[in-house]
Amino acid sequence: MSNAPSSKSRDSMDQDQFLTILSREDALERFEAALFPRAIPSEQRPLSDALGCALAQDIVAPIDVPPFDRSNVDGFAVRSADLASASEAAPMRIMLNDEVIACGTAPIRPVLSGTATSIATGGPVPRGADAIVMVEHTQPVANRAIEIRRAASPGQFISCAGSDIARGEALLRAGTVIGSREIGMLAACGIAQISVARRPRVAVISTGDELVQPGQPLRPAEIYDTNGAIVAAAVSENGGEAVFLGAIADEEEWLEAAMRKALETCDMLVLSGGTSKGAGDVSHRIIARLGKPGIIAHGVALKPGKPLCLAVCDGKPVVILPGFPTSAMFTFHDMIVPVLRRMAGLPPRSDAKVMAKVPVRIASELGRTEFVMVSLVEGDRGLIAYPSGKGSGAITSFAQADGFLKIDALADQVTAGSDAEVTLFTPHVRVPDLVIIGSHCTGLDLVTAPLARAGFSVRSIAVGSLGGLAAARRGECDFAPIHLFDEASESYNAPFLMAGLELVPGWRRMQGIVFRVGDARFEGLNAESAVRAALADPSCIMVNRNQGAGTRILIDRLLGDVRPDGYWNQPRSHSAVAAAVAQHRADWGVTIAPVAHTSGLGFIPLTEEHYDFALVTVRKERPAVQAFLQALASEESRAALQQAGFRPA
Ligand code: AMP
Ligand code: MG
Repeated sequence: MSNAPSSKSRDSMDQDQFLTILSREDALERFEAALFPRAIPSEQRPLSDALGCALAQDIVAPIDVPPFDRSNVDGFAVRSADLASASEAAPMRIMLNDEVIACGTAPIRPVLSGTATSIATGGPVPRGADAIVMVEHTQPVANRAIEIRRAASPGQFISCAGSDIARGEALLRAGTVIGSREIGMLAACGIAQISVARRPRVAVISTGDELVQPGQPLRPAEIYDTNGAIVAAAVSENGGEAVFLGAIADEEEWLEAAMRKALETCDMLVLSGGTSKGAGDVSHRIIARLGKPGIIAHGVALKPGKPLCLAVCDGKPVVILPGFPTSAMFTFHDMIVPVLRRMAGLPPRSDAKVMAKVPVRIASELGRTEFVMVSLVEGDRGLIAYPSGKGSGAITSFAQADGFLKIDALADQVTAGSDAEVTLFTPHVRVPDLVIIGSHCTGLDLVTAPLARAGFSVRSIAVGSLGGLAAARRGECDFAPIHLFDEASESYNAPFLMAGLELVPGWRRMQGIVFRVGDARFEGLNAESAVRAALADPSCIMVNRNQGAGTRILIDRLLGDVRPDGYWNQPRSHSAVAAAVAQHRADWGVTIAPVAHTSGLGFIPLTEEHYDFALVTVRKERPAVQAFLQALASEESRAALQQAGFRPA
């Protein structure tokens, strides 16, 4: 998509604070045009501190390597002509010179015809010698002599001076990125200092009243500053030198002072948070005062990452990344890294890519380039990319994802079953040994712990029970954990299995009502009386669950037709229900006993839910599947499950 800066896009009409949304390509092109071409400053660095830097100049070899003709073996330096007629039948007797050439010993005596000198691997070949005979092919005899039973060809086992690197040869070209191999070549030539592109100094500032640095205690409504750490690390990964200046409150005066100071000492400034044009968001207003030309793009058709702000102030890039960590990370990698690497003299990133099938439809917003993190699993016909969608605020998606796919701004979806190119986060695909797709439970981690210790990699993808069964039917996983109640047969799970799947019993989870300990409306009552008491009190607020959750069926049975205050608060997890009650946002809800206990809440048991596994039968003999079945049956994990509040089946 290519929007003129003055044209109003669909996005900007939805949200008029971003008056001009640029396409990703337009924004990047304008940003780069305002910054390049530019001279790349260089600096001298000791070899030991040059890893990852780009060479600023060609390097010409100042010496020959090796600097002298060198023996490649332990043996004897000889004149090959002396041995022309040597054979098993006619061994040649050669007199030894009174010298042993060890490494680092310069020879003194010449090798005259009929003589040899003992020499070690790496020793300099003495005058007169033109070949080395291996010690294994000689026999010591009396009176300082040896017998040799085979001929030697001229030059045998000798590396000549300059055969590796010749003096005056172009060793490395400007622009080469210094890795351990390059460091080895330079060290072999005796070079201790090199001229490299100076690493751009990148000031990193997080903004927000709510931010606290890791290591400090967290007070109510505060969160840890995640972007500071992410951006600083990503700067280092891409050739910059990060200067982290901490998190600064949304205070125009303080922030302006910090930004000005950063630009005095650094080549680039990366802020995060406060990119919206709301009253509390001040960074972009400050940028306008910092230098010319100022803001280049504020609002880019990216998802996640629309609020990205790109600016250039007197030749220095100034960027405000969106506040949500995953948005900050994607926009940094997609839009800032290309610029940073150019400033560092580095080539563009060459991330590994693989093709994979997308098993489910992914809807995408028309008009925005969208990045979707995916987990890779091995299917019957190649790689499968599962979107690991947790929303733009979720940082853990990164840990579970193997890479991401990019949906073009002009596409409104990726259809189920289509092929997509996945950019990997790591240099190679790492397909897990055991794949579990379905409903997630904290008990799973207890059972898979011994597998991880045994070296099996386990991937668990949470898509809910029905999604898991569909994945199992398509042969995309080993196990689908499910907890589905069949109203007709009043039983769990078994009625839902299809051909090719078999049921492996897992554990039972007690579901019940949670409340804050000491709340007289619930304390000491059974479930029915507790719900009656709650409904009778108009100030009592509940927290519900999402449609489709097994727990929701229970709640609906408890409530009948009543819709109490809080009914429309419908989080998607057991933990979210517990957090809502613990934090006084709600007074009661339904969750499972282990979650209630870890949150320190009161619990009234309702009914036991069966959490079992649908096993894909054709995969049963796989080592990781067998290991999982063993772990599930082991005393160790049964005890761990019990300890955590589950009841092993
Ligand atoms: P903002 O653009 O400042 O309104 O931030 C959007 C969201 O990102 C809010 O939920 C912020 O709390 C969150 N956020 C902003 N900066 C950071 C940060 N450095 N680390 C973690 N979350 C952040
Ligand atoms: Mg903020």
